[in-house]
Amino acid sequence: MVFDAHMHVGDFPMFGVSLDGPGLQTAMDEAGVDDGVVFHPDNDLVARTVSELGSVHALFWANPRIDNVVAECSRLLDREEFVGVKLHPLLDGYHPNDPAVHPIMEVLRDQGGAALIHCGHPIFTLPWSIEELVVEFPDVPVILGHMGHGNIIYINAAIDVAERNANVYLETSGMPMHTKIVEAVHRVGRERVLFGSDAPFHDMMVELLKVRRSGLSDDDLEWVEGRSAEQLFLGR
Ligand SMILES: [Zn+2]
Repeated sequence: MVFDAHMHVGDFPMFGVSLDGPGLQTAMDEAGVDDGVVFHPDNDLVARTVSELGSVHALFWANPRIDNVVAECSRLLDREEFVGVKLHPLLDGYHPNDPAVHPIMEVLRDQGGAALIHCGHPIFTLPWSIEELVVEFPDVPVILGHMGHGNIIYINAAIDVAERNANVYLETSGMPMHTKIVEAVHRVGRERVLFGSDAPFHDMMVELLKVRRSGLSDDDLEWVEGRSAEQLFLGR
């Protein structure tokens, strides 16, 4: 079972990439990915995509600057295919621990689900800033997307934050140092490290190969490729 914990659909002209539902299915089939979570600021597009494909799950894109975000979040998390939220403090422009984020975390605490938070760019998505939110909600699982991204200081800090806080998970997409995946498994446990591709911004097969070539034992690899995410998102 391979589960991709970080997938996008939609058009992204700033990056020169786009991916629709059938394109996502093709990428998953090519890479041998069985399931995953997909998201986009347009939550209706995501709802349509997951019902079209039938084989993937969704995260609700929670922008605390949008008026009815809490009610919408609660409504969509009631649906079986929505298994958590995506927060992008950098793109949407807010501090992760802004009080406006707290009602969203309360929905997760009450209805169940994890928060995937983009992690690795100043000023809003550095691991230490996200930790301020993490300690406020110790019962809500928080995934550091990209586990610090491309900067060794931030990557190390992401692993430190996960080591200090039992509710923090690390997701591998876009993070270039395969050796840090092994270190993360050893320091925080294989059940808290998740494979993610960040498709279409990164290639799904390349991102999966990075995890497979990282030097994990077969047992640990099985968890990072899918079992960790299955347990976290699907509760099995
Ligand atoms: Zn992403």
